This record gives sequence, structure tokens and C-alpha cells, in this order.
Amino acid sequence: MRRSNRQRLPGESGMAQNEAILPLTLIRDRATTDLILSGLDASGVAFALFSPEDELCYGSAAFKALFDVRPGVRTFAEIMRNCHMSSTGPKVNTPIEDFLDMARKKRRSRPQRTFEIDTSDDRWFLVNETLLPGGWLWHVFTDITMLKSNEQVLQLARDAAQRAADTDPLTGLLNRRAGMERLAAEMRSAARDGTPLSLALIDLDHFKSVNDRYGHSKGDQVLQHFAAAGHQQLRGGDIFARIGGEEFMVLMPGTGIEEAVNATERLRRHLAREENRADLNCAYTMSAGVAEYCGTAAEDLFERADRALYCAKRHGRDRIERAD
Ligand code: GH3
Ligand code: MG
Ligand code: MG
Repeated sequence: MRRSNRQRLPGESGMAQNEAILPLTLIRDRATTDLILSGLDASGVAFALFSPEDELCYGSAAFKALFDVRPGVRTFAEIMRNCHMSSTGPKVNTPIEDFLDMARKKRRSRPQRTFEIDTSDDRWFLVNETLLPGGWLWHVFTDITMLKSNEQVLQLARDAAQRAADTDPLTGLLNRRAGMERLAAEMRSAARDGTPLSLALIDLDHFKSVNDRYGHSKGDQVLQHFAAAGHQQLRGGDIFARIGGEEFMVLMPGTGIEEAVNATERLRRHLAREENRADLNCAYTMSAGVAEYCGTAAEDLFERADRALYCAKRHGRDRIERAD
């Protein structure tokens, strides 16, 4: 009796216990192969099979659309050059030949690789690359645009939460905790790079009287005025924080004591000029102590600046003193 060509499926009656179904035999069945290929096309998912010579031997309809595969274009390199030239398909941020060199090194480097690509139409794909026997490559592209946009929304929310946690709500300056973290970080950089770093501690003078005389709400406006004046007068790289009620700190990376005293003095003089307080209708002054980092602990730098501030208060306020 002639044996039927049709493959039996697992569990079908009459199948010997150890009889294996070879996928290869399935593929040789033309009808099944056509069904699989039309299934891959209809799925809308991008699939690609590259030969060991990196020629595209099969690409699903979605793959051809995604990579703008035109008739006559055969190799991975040709497909990518075409994408680059016509600004279609995956975004390439380096010169195309550098990109191809990098891709050549990575392709077939492992049995399985996954990586993400973003495309010129602002979609994101997770690419799963499987190395098949003989150097054939099978690529599956999963659209992860939705996941990415959720990730971006989460990242924005995380950044906003972090900013809120670091910010003093009245003045918009860094709060004490964030200021102290920046102090520790800047001290590490100064120690590592051998660059100068100065710290100014500023306290508004007789602030209790400002509140007593003009009311607490005017006191709040003075604090906001001082924060804005500091922002305007200090330099871009300076780090400005409110570390207590009417106490502030300015960290000046890359700045030695002379320059730091001058910068703080400029701010003091700015406050003294009436035209700079036009909207406030209330005079106020500041005292400050300035110290330069000399390799000791943060507490020491802070204490030296604080002692200088205490001297400024003792010597009559509305002045700057430098630490020894
Ligand atoms: P000195 O020149 O010695 O620093 O005198 P001072 O009055 O500024 O110092 P003191 O520490 O006695 O008073 C600080 C005042 O700052 C007391 C407090 O009510 C006020 N203050 C602290 N935080 C705020 C705030 O957020 N808003 C207002 N309006 N006042 C505040
Ligand atoms: Mg104070
Ligand atoms: Mg004060």
C-alpha cells in the first residue's frame, strides 16, 4: 500500500509514539508554505529573512513597507542606504557607512539579539534577531510605540515629581535637601578635578522686624524678591538654594574666594539700590559669609562660611565677610 504524503499532526491516531514531525517537511509542502507566508503578511507584523550574504530572501509586506524596500534592492546594506537617502525607515544618526560598519559587526554576533529602533514616522520597534544554522538571520519587529510613549509620559511625570521634591514652593529655588546634595556633588567634582569651589551663606537682616512692621505676607514677597534678584545677579553656573526661613546658600563651582566675595557683594549692592526694589515698597538688606573649599568635609566648609556670616552680623549687618 502507498504511504500518504500528508503529515500527521501530533496526537493523530495511527502515529507512532516516537515519530517526529519535521518542520522542514512541513515547509516542503507548498500549500502549507503559502499559508504560512500569507499568514505572516496578513498579521501586519514585519518579518525578514536574510541570507548568510545578507541578501533579503523574504520580507513580509509590513517589513517592505517599513524599510521602503524597492524592486531590485537586495542586500541589507542597499536597503539601509536607500532608507537613509530617502529619510524613510529606521533613523540613522551617524554617517550611513559608519552605521553599516557597526551593524556588520553586530549582526550574527550572537545566537539571539534584541534591540530597539525608531523610525522616521516616529514609531518604535523592538527587533528580535535570531541566528539560524548556516548564518541565516530571522528578524521579527514588534511595534512598541505605545509602550515608548507611556514610558515618556512616565519619565516626564517622574522629572516633574523630582523637580517638585527639590524645589522650595515659595521662592522656586532649590530647597535645603537638594542644595545639600548639590554641595556634596560639587565638592566631589572639585576634589576630583582640583578646581576651586566657593560657598556663600546669606541671611536677610532683621527679618523678624520686616514681618512685624509690614506683615508676614510682605515678608513672603521680600523672600521672593530676593530669590529673583539672586537669579538675576548670580552667574548661570551658580547654585542657589533656600536652606532655611530667610537663609540662603550660593554654591559657586570653579570660583575662588576673591571672585565669590565680589559676586556676593554685587548682589548686596543690587538690593541696596532703591530702583531695584520699586515694586516691593520695602527696604531690606543681607549679610553673608563666604568660604572657599579647601579639601575638608562639607560640614567644615559650611561651618567656616557660617562663622564668617556670624562675623558679618556682629560687625553691623548689610555686609560680606570672608572665612579664614
Ligand atoms: P538677623 O539679622 O540676626 O538675622 O535677624 P532676623 O530677625 O532676621 O533673625 P531671626 O532668626 O530672629 O528671625 C528670622 C525671621 O524670619 C523669623 C521668622 O518669622 C521669619 N521667617 C522665616 N521663614 C519665613 C517665611 O517663609 N516667611 C516670612 N514672612 N517670614 C519667615
Ligand atoms: Mg536667620
Ligand atoms: Mg536673619
